[in-house]
Amino acid sequence: MPLSLSLCNAPLRSIPSNPRQCLQTIRTLAESIAGNRPPSLLAAPIESLRRGDWVKLICGASFEDAADVRNLSLVYTLAGVDCIDCAADASVVNAVSDGIDAACRIASVRRPWVMISVNDDRNDLHFRKAEFDPEDCPPDCSRPCEMVCPANAILSKRTSEGVEIQHDSHAGGKLQGGVITERCYGCGRCLPVCPYDRIRAMTYIRDPATTSALLRRNDVDAIEIHTRGRSTDLFKELWSSLSGSSGHLKLVAVSLPDAGESTLAAMHLIYSIMKADLQCYNLWQLDGRPMSGDIGRGATREAVAFAARIASTQDRPHGFYQLAGGTNSHTIDSLKKLGLFQTMNNPAAQFQKNTIVSPSPDSHALIGGIAYGGYARKIVGRVLSRIPSKHGHAHIEDHPELLLDALKEAFTLVEPVKCHNQPMTQHQEKS
Ligand code: SF4
Ligand code: SF4
Repeated sequence: MPLSLSLCNAPLRSIPSNPRQCLQTIRTLAESIAGNRPPSLLAAPIESLRRGDWVKLICGASFEDAADVRNLSLVYTLAGVDCIDCAADASVVNAVSDGIDAACRIASVRRPWVMISVNDDRNDLHFRKAEFDPEDCPPDCSRPCEMVCPANAILSKRTSEGVEIQHDSHAGGKLQGGVITERCYGCGRCLPVCPYDRIRAMTYIRDPATTSALLRRNDVDAIEIHTRGRSTDLFKELWSSLSGSSGHLKLVAVSLPDAGESTLAAMHLIYSIMKADLQCYNLWQLDGRPMSGDIGRGATREAVAFAARIASTQDRPHGFYQLAGGTNSHTIDSLKKLGLFQTMNNPAAQFQKNTIVSPSPDSHALIGGIAYGGYARKIVGRVLSRIPSKHGHAHIEDHPELLLDALKEAFTLVEPVKCHNQPMTQHQEKS
């Protein structure tokens, strides 16, 4: 059956019929994205941010299923992402690195940066786990918690006597008390649906000492600090505890929600805290509607509105800007409608009668790119769930036909950003 994907310069016209052909097709597709950009003196991810075609995969600040993280990293590395953002946990970072290594053995693709995510505040939604004891659940419960969980993190079997606790193969056969801790990423959707109020949310803060140790690893390139921007004292405390170990980082990202009028002031304050010790690029992650990209079209509105507001402000803090929180396959179209996609021009100026081009003060795209989380995991996760698991080891490359399916899914997100053929703006041509 012909495929509709154009995949930059390498149209894929038919599905290969055997594993060797599958792998060859995967290699061709992956290298078509990798070879689509001119060589540069700057690191490729920075060039992507400057052009506005940066794509980051968010594995999830709390998602710690090493098998899925590894396979997601493999697939999205082949698809050409610039960065993979994961939990600040050694086994998760190992899984990301392993996935990237495996992708690089399959095709000549560039290594994405590895970013770890931490928080300065216990109340950050990205850093929590749901928990309940299934033995407390009434036998006749229809289990709505299980149905709403986007991560398949709630597992159990029904028996004639009621709900039976299931041993979880993801966790070496440990009892997980209803929620597979490693898979829960804290979206919170199960909390309000339990008719018996049995589910608790456990929040936590990533330990700064563990984070410092991770930052010294050669395979960690970037850090993202989630903050709510309400108390910069918390940010300051975390930043000073990490500053001694951030020397070789290539990028520091700060992720924050839109808190309205106070947001810009908080960003300026945060930048003033970081500035003296900042030895690399910095990025602002504009977190629209956290952990909601898989829900549907409407989820992307808040991130795009946040970006539009910041981009129309001349007095924005130094650094690259990237969307997250609700991003999905509709995000690019929404950005294009607002004139915000891969442009250096101030969109507010574009809407005025006498159009005045107001270039970004930093000579790079107003919006550096997009981070995809829940939606990216959902579309590839559907394929990952078809991998037969042997003793907990499930390497997607052992099933080339599944890897090709997963790569096609990943391309649907990455390709519209990476292979966008929009003519360069006047300003881009000059720079
Ligand atoms: S918080 Fe979200 S991911 Fe965690 S168990 Fe509940 S629904 Fe699943
Ligand atoms: S909905 Fe509540 S009571 Fe029912 S299985 Fe889930 S946690 Fe237990």
